[in-house]
Amino acid sequence: MSSLIYLDNNATTRVADEVVSAMTPYYRDLFGNAHAIHTLGRQSHDAVEAAREEVALLLGCSAPEVIFTSCGTEGNALVIRGLLDRTTDRTTDRTTDGAPERKKVVTTSVEHPSVLTLLYALQRAGAIELTVVPVDATGSIDLDAMREAIDERTLLVSVMLAQNETGVLHPVARIAGLAHAQGALMHVDAVQAAGKVPLAQDDLGADFITISGHKFHAPKGVGALTIRKGLSLQPLWYGGGQELGLRSGTEPVPSIVGLATAARLAREALASHERIRALRDRLESEILSRVEDSSVNGSEQPRLGNTANIAFHDAYADEVVRALDAAGICVSAGAACHSGKVEPSGTMKAMGKPLRIAMGAVRFSLSRYTTAEEIDRAVEATAEAVPRVRRTMVTAS
Ligand code: PLP
Repeated sequence: MSSLIYLDNNATTRVADEVVSAMTPYYRDLFGNAHAIHTLGRQSHDAVEAAREEVALLLGCSAPEVIFTSCGTEGNALVIRGLLDRTTDRTTDRTTDGAPERKKVVTTSVEHPSVLTLLYALQRAGAIELTVVPVDATGSIDLDAMREAIDERTLLVSVMLAQNETGVLHPVARIAGLAHAQGALMHVDAVQAAGKVPLAQDDLGADFITISGHKFHAPKGVGALTIRKGLSLQPLWYGGGQELGLRSGTEPVPSIVGLATAARLAREALASHERIRALRDRLESEILSRVEDSSVNGSEQPRLGNTANIAFHDAYADEVVRALDAAGICVSAGAACHSGKVEPSGTMKAMGKPLRIAMGAVRFSLSRYTTAEEIDRAVEATAEAVPRVRRTMVTAS
């Protein structure tokens, strides 16, 4: 790798060397279409089915419950749209099995846009009733509001396991209990959690789990969705009927093999996640002691061991990110700049963070490749950059 220090692993990760090696033969020699009946086709088919077994081990489910997708966004869309299309007979406003229509979806205010923006769009189109349950300033979901929101008209509850900006872990098993008590289904967006915490369909109480390969050292463009046995969805599109008819299109065998290899490595590496947590804790405590007026968002809650969301009060996060980039350190800003207007992230807004904290939120996210030396260099660079950025802002204003 280059001498850049990469601390933006919640955005995407480097593909593991073992993953590249496992994929390579499927580009060069074993390139058959997994649905062809000749030898090359059968070899690809066998590789896809072996990969399904491996991904099922990561997700604590059975292989037939796994389908391969292109990414987390697709998995989330397939659950939400696929469930709505399945349940409603548009001519009668009753479900296809005759029960009163369930049109309600319950989610939280800190979901990824692939869930939240889609749900808002469906709400605007009149396709669903939507309840968005708030979080408090620590990122904790209001469970009383969740309990109140889920009723006998709720079709789906969609809650992420780990929040992408803060790493805060949500009590999805408890929420699944509330959902199931009312006959609703539970979707868990585990895109940020995969490879960082143990995942098991039954322990999570999940009817659907979304994961995305590029977040745990597989390539971009491949992910998986679990669909609990006995449940069905409508596909987003139609074609050759691959992946149980839910995801037509020739399977990207090399990517699927890469996903499975990364899933195996992720399971094996779970035990060493404490090393990453120790590095993250060191990063946070060093930065907090060296940079005045800084704080950690979400630190009061159980959270991923790899994520540090540090607010540099009264600094623009974008400016801090640029200054660190100039020092060879890749991190990301929660605050996004849309058409020249700097806005705090939706997550910081949902947590009700004051503007001076929300605008200065910078995310450092580690991986199993992060070293202690890199953390020390990142601390040095941050301690140097933040006061400089603050001074420039005062001069400019
Ligand atoms: N869900 C969460 C929690 C995420 O963090 C992301 C990506 O950052 C996604 C879904 C979307 O995943 P993908 O980029 O694979 O579409």
